[in-house]
Amino acid sequence: MGFSQLLVEWYRVNKRDLPWRETTNPYFIWVSEVILQQTRVAQGIGYYNSFTEAFPTVFDLAKADIDEVLKVWQGLGYYSRARNMHTTAKELVANHGGRFPSTYSELIKLKGVGDYTASAIAAFAFKEPVAAIDGNVYRIFARLFDVATPIDTAQGKKELRAIAYAMLDTHAPDVYNQAIMDFGGTVCMPKKPHCLCCPAMELCAAFRNRRVDLLPVKAKKVKQRNRYFTYVVPFSKGVTFISKRSKNDIWQSLYEFPLIETDSQLSVEQITSTNEWQGLFGSQQVEIVFFSEPQKYVLSHQHLYTRFIIVRMNDDDFYGSSEYQKVSVDEVGRYSTSRLIENFLAAESALKYLKSADGI
Ligand code: SF4
Repeated sequence: MGFSQLLVEWYRVNKRDLPWRETTNPYFIWVSEVILQQTRVAQGIGYYNSFTEAFPTVFDLAKADIDEVLKVWQGLGYYSRARNMHTTAKELVANHGGRFPSTYSELIKLKGVGDYTASAIAAFAFKEPVAAIDGNVYRIFARLFDVATPIDTAQGKKELRAIAYAMLDTHAPDVYNQAIMDFGGTVCMPKKPHCLCCPAMELCAAFRNRRVDLLPVKAKKVKQRNRYFTYVVPFSKGVTFISKRSKNDIWQSLYEFPLIETDSQLSVEQITSTNEWQGLFGSQQVEIVFFSEPQKYVLSHQHLYTRFIIVRMNDDDFYGSSEYQKVSVDEVGRYSTSRLIENFLAAESALKYLKSADGI
């Protein structure tokens, strides 16, 4: 029996019960695939349910405000996914009457829809015989065929895509593509694959050659970047100040407190001597009522060393406030923010300070 047949038989018994599995609605499939691009399935289910509840159709998503979309996405990370979906939804409504194109070649033309997502929608919703190829698929075939060409090079991708297409079950591309996703997520995982209960063990060249731990090969090591974020949280008389991140950077379009980013970890005294601090408060008299210890916050390619400084002011305004939006302390949690700020606001101590008596 060949790999495709073994895989599909295995899937019929071991299929994961997931909310997007029972639908052929391309909108729901699109939402689920975008969520799952950088998110574990267990975490993705809750977000999928809240997203489709908040925006049950592409029309609802298109007419929503981006802040609303980001609020539902909050905590999931990689916020460009939500921004791109919002843009694509608008495009679908404006140019396609709210209907998804039914072929890979048309789907791929949509903004923010890449090769993998276009293939997944085409295969799951319209049964087009295309292979949805992501990191899971590269890893599985690198192992099954003992391919040592690095999977992050053009040559490696070319070789493995050819194998993926040769293996594709063209009669049931929907079931086959779902099966290989589940197989990659539960059996041939990146670390500690379950080779001893793998349905394809006898076919697997890496298992036979004892090279499972060495595959897949990657050419580049991902470089980590260290950044040092100090959030300054000014408050007075029940209000605080936030702004929307506009830079093409992490957390774009999310709200945050005034941020001082430095090249190294500075003490609180050093922070209060920076030009950025002066730009915020000038010679205004303020009182630091709380500062957190630096905490490491890990993103996929960045390590953030973060700290919050809560600053009480006499007035409900400050020197550099023109760049910020004044919001009530009670309302600030309603804005879409990074998980880091969400956690800060969820901490009892932070709210206790922000709601404490005013005046220095
Ligand atoms: Fe993956 Fe192991 Fe199965 Fe090979 S035997 S396909 S490495 S789980």
